[in-house]
Amino acid sequence: MPGVVEDSPLEIAIVGGGIIGLSLAAGLIKQNVNVKVYEQAKGFREIGAGMAFTANAIRCMGLMNPDIVSALRSGGSVATSLDKNDPNDYLRWIDGYNKRRKDDPSHQTMLFKIDAGYKGFEGTRRDQFLEALVKVIPEEIVELKKRLDTIEEKANGRVQLKFTDGTTAEADAVIGCDGIKSRVRELLFGSDNPASFPHYTHKVAYRALVPMDKAISALGEYKARNQHNHVGPNAHLIHYPVANQTMINATAFVSDPNEWPDDKVTVVPALRKDLEDAFAGWNPCLTALIRHFPEKLDKWAVFDTWDYPAPFFNKGSVCLAGDAAHASSPHHGAGACCGIEDALCLVTLLQQVNATLATTPTTKTKKAEALAAAFEVFDAVRRTRGQWLVNSSRRVCDLYHQPEWGHPQKWTKAETCFEEIRDRSLKIWHFDYDGMMRDAVARYAEKVVV
Ligand code: FAD
Repeated sequence: MPGVVEDSPLEIAIVGGGIIGLSLAAGLIKQNVNVKVYEQAKGFREIGAGMAFTANAIRCMGLMNPDIVSALRSGGSVATSLDKNDPNDYLRWIDGYNKRRKDDPSHQTMLFKIDAGYKGFEGTRRDQFLEALVKVIPEEIVELKKRLDTIEEKANGRVQLKFTDGTTAEADAVIGCDGIKSRVRELLFGSDNPASFPHYTHKVAYRALVPMDKAISALGEYKARNQHNHVGPNAHLIHYPVANQTMINATAFVSDPNEWPDDKVTVVPALRKDLEDAFAGWNPCLTALIRHFPEKLDKWAVFDTWDYPAPFFNKGSVCLAGDAAHASSPHHGAGACCGIEDALCLVTLLQQVNATLATTPTTKTKKAEALAAAFEVFDAVRRTRGQWLVNSSRRVCDLYHQPEWGHPQKWTKAETCFEEIRDRSLKIWHFDYDGMMRDAVARYAEKVVV
């Protein structure tokens, strides 16, 4: 009831127990926020795919809760590069299409290399990281098999969540960390708004694990043992070593001018032959590597929120973060890093809300106002960067797929793209998270005058 003094701590419901939902929960625990995570799945067994975090994102994790960093490292890291004489991590782009040397058709020209510094990236297996992250959070905080259906803002300033199993829960605020197909986003924008759903990027992906000896026979020792991104007209193929250098993880992305027929089914069976056709005429190293892919493959349609970005990340006591707010294609390999920045921003702001409530009589309306102000600031501070990543990921993929790679007279033009790619990569790697936190605190203070 408005005006009644309530001394209860802040209660936050997080929808979705992915990397961002769990990291945010771990951060909020440190701020003495009462947090609950509602996850639709039965457990946290994800697919064992690899992913990497930038050194910058790892520092953001540490600021939220150092146990997140320990969880990341507990699964062991997967090196993306291996050079005994040089401990730094690099991204490398190589000409995948052209045969520039008549005497050696399998020669590949190295196009560009960016130094990400010592431990510039730390790789992990997604499933191992999540399993370790769950252990950072007290067991009673996570509720499994809870698929969000609706959210209702109540007259007393609280929010009610209804789940598809018919049960309900209440909180002071809801943060939707429910991923690319976010239900919270759909509830905010409505089912007839295209911004509620991700859309097809017109790129498909094929992934395979290739044993290291076969990868070496196709690519040669150095390329097989180090991350490389092979670019060419309308496609690219990226690979890096995994499983203690016993295999490489290779993913080929191919441009597709057609529409994707069904946005509910984004993975369909395909054949190696489809990929061989897409890479016909490429450098023989690449065609040899693709021959080591399994005959039957999955074709995965890449979706994102580029066409219809979220017009806002917040409404009252409801807010979006991570892929729910800005789902990116994977070409920068930084979607989760950006979600971690979101989580740090939210933890910073909710710490401010706690401070407001500690210094003023805590009524439920006061809580709702302070939370709404914090979420407005979150939207102002994070939305442009989150959506920039989505746009930039599309842009770099278009640069990798330039038709100009197929025209010898236009190679020089195509190669200038690496100036732009370097700038975009550095904008991700060197994000000023201290500045973000200061900005968020200052903007919140302007809104909430205690
Ligand atoms: P998710 O991981 O999708 O988690 C959402 C959670 O919400 C899920 O557990 C889901 O079950 C749950 N959920 C959904 N709906 C509901 C509901 N209605 N009720 C309750 N729960 C619900 N990023 C990087 O930073 N580095 C990388 O190297 C990298 N590599 C990538 C490679 C590939 C191939 C892809 C596809 C992405 C990659 N990314 C990478 C991006 C990264 O995977 C995502 O940005 C990140 O996983 C998003 O985390 P999230 O917690 O926001 O969403």
